[in-house]
Amino acid sequence: MSNKNPKLVVFTDLDGTLLDDTYSYENLKPIIDKLLSMNVSIVFCSSKTQGEIECYRQTMDIQDPFIVENGGAIIIPKNYFSFPPECSKHTKKYDIIELGVPYAVVREKLAKIKLETGAGIVGFGDLTAEEVAAETGLPLDLAKLAKKRGYDEPCRLLWGNEKEVLAAVEKEGLFFVKGGRYFHLLGGSDKGKATVALKDLYVRAFGRTVTFGVGDSPIDMPMIKVVDVPLLVRSSSGGKNARLVVWRNVLRLVTQKARNEPEFNVLAEQLSTLNCQTRTFPEAGPEN
Ligand SMILES: [Mg+2]
Repeated sequence: MSNKNPKLVVFTDLDGTLLDDTYSYENLKPIIDKLLSMNVSIVFCSSKTQGEIECYRQTMDIQDPFIVENGGAIIIPKNYFSFPPECSKHTKKYDIIELGVPYAVVREKLAKIKLETGAGIVGFGDLTAEEVAAETGLPLDLAKLAKKRGYDEPCRLLWGNEKEVLAAVEKEGLFFVKGGRYFHLLGGSDKGKATVALKDLYVRAFGRTVTFGVGDSPIDMPMIKVVDVPLLVRSSSGGKNARLVVWRNVLRLVTQKARNEPEFNVLAEQLSTLNCQTRTFPEAGPEN
């Protein structure tokens, strides 16, 4: 097994990372297609719901497992791994590992937090699908899917003392974290915990596994911290092209991996260090 090429898995956020402000990934399509053709697994790890992520997986023709609602659950297509994973829930198409506090409990606790702090907090559960569509710019069909939540509540804090809210959230055993557009209220899991659990399954199935993590906001940090190659999309290091720059680097690393492992390790470390510690991000070479 040690001479075999390692399994490569890219864990990626969606909004602001793979998708642009209009929820499009058109300019990254050739890179995604190329990665898939090289047998790289692409795992969506997003605050989006199962229904929403299924739409993007279908559009991009991705068959890999995915992580929903900021780590709330890992959804694994049936027979994806050579062994049945230990799961809490099974559907016709998927084996599901649930990690997060159930949405109904999160909503109950949110009501308590609002009462206790007097803060004005509006979650997706307080809005109609039409209101979610208007607020997010999502088409109505996707807004409807965005409201079918199992674990995580996207919220806006309209008024109130943020410190008091955070203390009340903690008292309820939940946490509140900033994503690209919303604060998210959830408990029991995060993107990092789910990423580690899924990576363990890849290692069990494929042996040596190299993981990439791509994200753009604080909510992605738990995922970024547990992968081998962390990459952040930052407008300070690429402006409007920041997404493209990062994905070109993923492709560059994957191609390098296929050619020469020691060079890959050096390059990955250089990119991760530059990416995480400085304001600049090196442009990838010519398109592969
Ligand atoms: Mg994002």
